[in-house]
Amino acid sequence: MLYGIISDIHNNLEALNTVLSFLKDKVDQIICLGDIIGYGPNPNECCEIIKQLDIPSVAGNHEYAALGKMDINWFNKNARDAILWTKKELKEKNLHFLNSLGEILNFSDFTIVHGSLRDPINEYVDSLRVALGTFERMKKKICFIGHTHVPVIIGLREDGNYDGRVIKDNDIIYLGDYQKAIINVGSVGQPRDGDKRASCGIFDTSRKEVSIFRLEYDIEAVQKKMEECNLPRPLIDRLSYGT
Ligand code: ZN
Repeated sequence: MLYGIISDIHNNLEALNTVLSFLKDKVDQIICLGDIIGYGPNPNECCEIIKQLDIPSVAGNHEYAALGKMDINWFNKNARDAILWTKKELKEKNLHFLNSLGEILNFSDFTIVHGSLRDPINEYVDSLRVALGTFERMKKKICFIGHTHVPVIIGLREDGNYDGRVIKDNDIIYLGDYQKAIINVGSVGQPRDGDKRASCGIFDTSRKEVSIFRLEYDIEAVQKKMEECNLPRPLIDRLSYGT
């Protein structure tokens, strides 16, 4: 089975369409790790695509913030302004859809969650120390996470040692070397690893391989729409740098 894994779309319709047309003919099923909304200019369109294509998804912190399920004072001012704008824009049916998303989903070969298994919505798995809280809760060998917007693998090797590294464009990770692995496929709509291209992953369950792909999309078109919507300037600029 071939899975396309996407995460952190953040209202970025151009990046989403680019990633979906890349994955379409390559995978059997696409799966989303949350944060469909927030930051960008097209919240309704992004929700409707995920819903129409029947892409299983978990909820992220931006969904919880827009739904009033968490205190938005946890966010910095720019993110908060974008959440308030998104909340105002979202149609009732799309709020309803986002409200239907669960926090953790299990598939036969893996588990998906936005943040971590210890704190599904809010925890950033950005070090081995933090990752241990997820490793000890993993019932499947593989757990896909989002939230940090940086593609990484943190793994428990067959020899009992842990390792971790950032995954670059076209890297192939062989999972047969690991007892357990936590994988972040990066962000579709707001990459933060210094590579401005949209990020996505493909998981080949029979070859036990995960590959990361980075794709150029029309950043200027998104930035122009963000300006028209009066979204915060730093959120517009960061798309040019992937930071
Ligand atoms: Zn995010």
